[in-house]
Amino acid sequence: MERLYAPWRSLYVKKDKESDECPFCVAAASSDDAAHLVLSRAGGVLTMLNRFPYNTGHLLIIPPSHVADLEVIPSEVRAGMMEAAATWSTVLKKQFNCHGFNIGFNLGAVAGGSIPGHIHMHVVPRWQGDTNFLATIGETKLISSDLADIYKQLLATTK
Ligand SMILES: [Zn+2]
Repeated sequence: MERLYAPWRSLYVKKDKESDECPFCVAAASSDDAAHLVLSRAGGVLTMLNRFPYNTGHLLIIPPSHVADLEVIPSEVRAGMMEAAATWSTVLKKQFNCHGFNIGFNLGAVAGGSIPGHIHMHVVPRWQGDTNFLATIGETKLISSDLADIYKQLLATTK
């Protein structure tokens, strides 16, 4: 797989680490889904837009409890994560006409996990030629100004 180049991410990840609070636990405990870009809590898991996306529509699927490893998640929650991945990859295909996905986990800091204490599944839409595209438009504000619109568009599919 060709690795996506997302230079704006390093800034954000650094900023995130200055806070002691786990942003996923904060989102799980909050009743303000819009503030945390949470799209769904179906299946007992949170599906949210990644604020620091590798690509447009990059989602995170998160168990509500602060656990680091797959084996300690209750099996029904694990199943809920896979169901959410299936549901939302279908939505992303429809909404954004993406050509493929990278779906998976970076478990542990050594594997590149930016929040290693709270396991999260990435759903990253891919388009033909997107690595070149992102290298060209790699500007923070471009992606972040799109986030609110993308959130609204995806949330509308749940109504
Ligand atoms: Zn957490």
